Amino acid sequence: MIFLIVFSVILFILLAIFIGLQINKKRYEAFIAENSLCLQSLKKINSDFTFSPDINYDQSYTYDNENFYETISCKDFLIYQLQFQAGEICSQIKKISRNKTEYQRYIDQINKLQLGNFSAPIGKLKHDKLLKTEKRLCRRATLQTPTTQFILTVKLYCSKINGEIYAHKSETFSSEIILALVKRLKNKIGNYYRDREIWDAICRVERGKVSNRMRFSIYARDGYRCRHCGISQRYAALEIDHIIPITKGGKSTYDNLQTLCHKCNVEKGDRF
Ligand SMILES: [Zn+2]
Repeated sequence: MIFLIVFSVILFILLAIFIGLQINKKRYEAFIAENSLCLQSLKKINSDFTFSPDINYDQSYTYDNENFYETISCKDFLIYQLQFQAGEICSQIKKISRNKTEYQRYIDQINKLQLGNFSAPIGKLKHDKLLKTEKRLCRRATLQTPTTQFILTVKLYCSKINGEIYAHKSETFSSEIILALVKRLKNKIGNYYRDREIWDAICRVERGKVSNRMRFSIYARDGYRCRHCGISQRYAALEIDHIIPITKGGKSTYDNLQTLCHKCNVEKGDRF
């Protein structure tokens, strides 16, 4: 019984001390919120700055064909994607680089602010405690560091035909590398890229779009026969052919793919 009373009293005292501390803390915070010149200037500076949000342009792709997974590099894949996304990505790179200079300007301005100047007398409040509170509130009001560096990661996976992934590789690219690639992609006539390395990379990735799954459905569509000479898969090895060759700008789409036997495919070569 005695023990219970002592315990309750101690608990009550602790609670009272805690509430007292909280009230005191609120008093200091209210004074700072109303009278700190530093906090007021900080809020004004904050309203002059906006930073662009970070947008993720990471790329990923899964190959169900190990051969394509091996021959296509992350860089090849990036080059291919840049054909379609260069505009958006370059604009994001620009925004992020602007974030960097703007954030530096922001930091320079808030570094000039000085703690401890109040627009009203502090009365009975303690000066050092006010300073601590002011520092804490200013830190809380400071804008968060925006993204100031653009990076893009390409991840390639290799899966079995049932979708189970058993290998992966990845590479990260800086804005400098990306901008240099975009510049090389501009060297173009019609649908062809003059830069040999760029063109080869695009052809490799385009060829890699024919997944094993797609290959089997093309064979099925064509009745497991060569579309040229009609021989069936029982008598000859069948292959997938791009009707308009990739090197002539053809794509890996169903209507540009056909089943040919090995012999017809060799004869056709790189022609339409
Ligand atoms: Zn044939």
